[in-house]
Amino acid sequence: MKLKIVKGTRDLYGDDMSRFQRLEDAARDVFNLYGYEEIRTPMFEKTELFAHGVGEDTDIVGKEMFLLEDRRGRSLALRPEMTASVVRSVITNNHMQQSTHRRFYYIGPMFRYEQPQKGRFRQFYQIGAEYFGVSSPDADLEILLMLRQFFQAIDLKTVSFQLNTIGCQLPECRPAFKNRLVAYLESKQDRLCENCQRRIHTNPLRVLDCKEEQCIALTADAPKIYEHVCEECDTHFTGLRQMMEAHEVEYSLNHKLVRGLDYYSRTVFEVYSENLGAQNAAGGGGRYDGLFEVYGSPIIPALGFALGLDRLAMLISETKPQPEGVFIIGHDRQAVTSLVAKTREAGYKSLYDPFQSSMKSQFRQANKANVTKVLILGEEELKANSVSVKNMLNGQQDSVNLDDILNYIA
Ligand SMILES: [Zn+2]
Ligand SMILES: [Zn+2]
Repeated sequence: MKLKIVKGTRDLYGDDMSRFQRLEDAARDVFNLYGYEEIRTPMFEKTELFAHGVGEDTDIVGKEMFLLEDRRGRSLALRPEMTASVVRSVITNNHMQQSTHRRFYYIGPMFRYEQPQKGRFRQFYQIGAEYFGVSSPDADLEILLMLRQFFQAIDLKTVSFQLNTIGCQLPECRPAFKNRLVAYLESKQDRLCENCQRRIHTNPLRVLDCKEEQCIALTADAPKIYEHVCEECDTHFTGLRQMMEAHEVEYSLNHKLVRGLDYYSRTVFEVYSENLGAQNAAGGGGRYDGLFEVYGSPIIPALGFALGLDRLAMLISETKPQPEGVFIIGHDRQAVTSLVAKTREAGYKSLYDPFQSSMKSQFRQANKANVTKVLILGEEELKANSVSVKNMLNGQQDSVNLDDILNYIA
């Protein structure tokens, strides 16, 4: 049997792993400041959860889901994203009956059957957050501020947002805008790409974010949804923008930022960093005030975002771990292992050579181990009940009584 890793997947270790850990630590630290609790949901759910929550005619559900059948023939899917799972958890655990508002964040793998390419994997990782129960723009602002702070914590340059509102389902709001947009698109119909010619009547908003050149050009002057939303949606959007300006959140309006599904509402955004370039969003999010209704639950205002960890990990600067702990050298296995245990139990990272190779080789390993001190238990030291300590940061050497060693290295 020839072992091979599954296409589109990878093992994380070494430098990649430390980058992931740095991102995850920063996320936990920053999100905690905003009152977000971590949530872990199962990696698989009933397929219908995603079919309803992400949308049956999206690529994610239509083409990219990893489907499983359990032993009784029920259809399960590896989660392609987390919002549907978190919403499911809020409903099945009655989270909203315990509190008027809840905040959750998650970190974990998602699965999509996409063509693997640089930085894209079939098992990929996301960090995200969801905020339930608050419809005022304070919640939208909070999410944006938290994202900005997270980006600052991982030393990414200038964070800016692209922002849009897609209104609500009131007849005078998005539905009226759609009619206006369809009329505009029909006048250009024969010059749109094939996909968009079909979409004019099935999902006209999606024509706005088509990536085909001719469609990008033809929709540049399309009516802008943020100029045509209902009064309440307009008040929400204006309120958010005023607060963003007060907090000096950099943003630009982008009327082409849309979501294709009806349960999305109002705020839509993408987050950019100079490190990623203007073409690539690091992530995005927005409101989905209508999603709970899709699952037959009472309406709960909600919003959130997701960031791709795999790509962020490539952007952050290399992490050079700080020297830490001790390396213990010697040939008396009993003496070495008991000092190793003693230092570990006292809370120090402590390493040694399990093969007890030559002193020269042990010194070589100690030099590579990135520790602050090397403790030498040679024959002479053992006779004198002492340890020779070499400080790896400044080269200084000392002889220390074995019984005082923990005080010395403290
Ligand atoms: Zn509206
Ligand atoms: Zn198109």
